Amino acid sequence: MIYLVYAFIASISSVIGGLLPIYTRLKHIRTNYLIGFAAGVLISTALFVMLPEGLLASDQILTPFAFGFFSLYLIEKSVMIHACKETECDVHTKGWVGMIGLGLESMLDGIAIAVGYITEPALGLIIAFAVAVHELPVGFCTSIIMIRSNYDRKNTLIALFLTSFLTVVGALIAGFFPQEYFGPILAFTAGTFIYIGASDLLPQAHERVDWIVVVSVICGAVIVPLMERILGT
Ligand SMILES: [Zn+2]
Repeated sequence: MIYLVYAFIASISSVIGGLLPIYTRLKHIRTNYLIGFAAGVLISTALFVMLPEGLLASDQILTPFAFGFFSLYLIEKSVMIHACKETECDVHTKGWVGMIGLGLESMLDGIAIAVGYITEPALGLIIAFAVAVHELPVGFCTSIIMIRSNYDRKNTLIALFLTSFLTVVGALIAGFFPQEYFGPILAFTAGTFIYIGASDLLPQAHERVDWIVVVSVICGAVIVPLMERILGT
């Protein structure tokens, strides 16, 4: 059940991200670099780690991969708060409805960590890293959005704790999934990672032309195969 610990540690980064604008002066931090890095990590984790591992477990991965991608698209366009710059948040005043989207996405993160870990412990560790890295800016932005929407600190923190707790719940549930579905599940969650990385985080990171963002994305993309090498998956 180590994967529950991984899920907890990875998910707590959204709470840490959320605490920054509340308890520090980091309200106007340039999040572009972190968002770019997270995009690189997520996309790379899906392409270099989750899909190949899914393919080893099953030859039926393309359809679940596509389902994962479009499911996240539907979740995001209907209810989700996503990582954003604090200046352009008209779509983000949906409050608790937005938290449902975030909660669902967090749950999928937990499922990916657990399924990855049970398949191979190093795989779970890499996926947990990808979750931790992208949840940090998500928590940061969610916190800013909620405070701007007149939620107080307490409610903001409760919301962040609840959504990050759902990552652990997702991991717990995934422990009961039959192993023959692990290939398609890895592919499905890889589809959600690609969606968040490529269509959410990447455009956010590139709001302005900035070569350091490009370097951040590439660093994120490169670190995943490096981790794979070091961990020997
Ligand atoms: Zn997430």
